[in-house]
Amino acid sequence: MSSEYPKPCCLCNQQITGVHDDHNPAPLKTGENDRCCSLCNQELVIEARIAHLVLYGIPWDFQHPRLTRYNEDGRVVDHMGVVQ
Ligand SMILES: [Zn+2]
Repeated sequence: MSSEYPKPCCLCNQQITGVHDDHNPAPLKTGENDRCCSLCNQELVIEARIAHLVLYGIPWDFQHPRLTRYNEDGRVVDHMGVVQ
């Protein structure tokens, strides 16, 4: 992961000027180099995380985002397919 500033926000392309303006955009973008600015974080990312929580009943899992799976009913299941 790059720590060089400024760098473009992956959502709005504005420049991220430093560590305090540098946020994880998941679940909107999950690439390892994807970072977003404070405005997108406040306006878009928090909303998406709330939507994820409301929709699936669990918070976005930052530790294992790629392990989060859903069954055909949209329920979160573990790696064995067991509903959480
Ligand atoms: Zn942005």
